[in-house]
Amino acid sequence: MPSQLTVFGWHNVESTWCFPVTGSGVSGLERQLRQLRRYANVVPLEQALDALREGRPLPPRAVALCWDDGYHDNLRLAVPVLEKLGLPGTFFLVPGLLSRESRAWWEVAGWAFARSSRDRVEWRGMRLFTRGQAGRLCYGKASDVLRVMSADAREEALADLLDRLAPEGHPGDEDLFLDWNDAHELIRRGFSVGSHTMRHVTLAQESPEAQLADLRLSRERLEGELDVPIRTVAYPFGQSDAVSEATREATLAAGYAHGLTTEFGWNTGTTPAAHGRRVMLDPHIGFVATLAGRVAGRLRTDRDR
Ligand SMILES: [Zn+2]
Repeated sequence: MPSQLTVFGWHNVESTWCFPVTGSGVSGLERQLRQLRRYANVVPLEQALDALREGRPLPPRAVALCWDDGYHDNLRLAVPVLEKLGLPGTFFLVPGLLSRESRAWWEVAGWAFARSSRDRVEWRGMRLFTRGQAGRLCYGKASDVLRVMSADAREEALADLLDRLAPEGHPGDEDLFLDWNDAHELIRRGFSVGSHTMRHVTLAQESPEAQLADLRLSRERLEGELDVPIRTVAYPFGQSDAVSEATREATLAAGYAHGLTTEFGWNTGTTPAAHGRRVMLDPHIGFVATLAGRVAGRLRTDRDR
């Protein structure tokens, strides 16, 4: 049987404005990682992708672990668990967030809904409620719209949304993310790093030239600052509207060996190098529930950002 690699991906460990975690995220994560260590063979992501590509065998039930976005609790909470269990992990980082030059719009928008001074607002022809369950649903509707915009268009639409929601206070979003010192610490502690683009852009919504420029710059910036080769990119919001043929071409042209989507599935030797598949998980939702939900197409793909 040809080798297969399942890549499991996470984001934040504990609750954020955008993505609440019920219960203890870190105990959920530890439970998941212990199960993987027991039932699968956890291998380093990049070496395993290289092996698949070159036709070298992988151990049976090979899995690799990664985290997107560079949430600070990845270092604070996930890394100690990985170290305790002796497991390798890869962190896909956004230089703009590490240097505080960009903001995580999904968190800012999540905060603006949670702290809105209005009960409901009109925005781009939609009526958006802000309180309770309806507020969460409307936040989801707004982020679906923002997600499929180019970075420039999104900036304008988000500013308009924030004006209307008129939230009180400050989101504290900077504290949610790693900085460059933290990224160095990941490397020092033996973990791997990849690119998640310069500003967490929805690549396919940008021109082919802009995609290439971003992919190249994010690789060079991470390599320059961290002094490690950057050979893998995880595409932000990596579903079909975020990854196009131009994205895959730009990935290889920008010098990456591997590109990973959030398309559900596993990888074999024939999986395209710039279109790897992953299984995105929440720390507080068990494997069985996640996999069953994904297969049935019932679980929303909020976590695919
Ligand atoms: Zn992301």
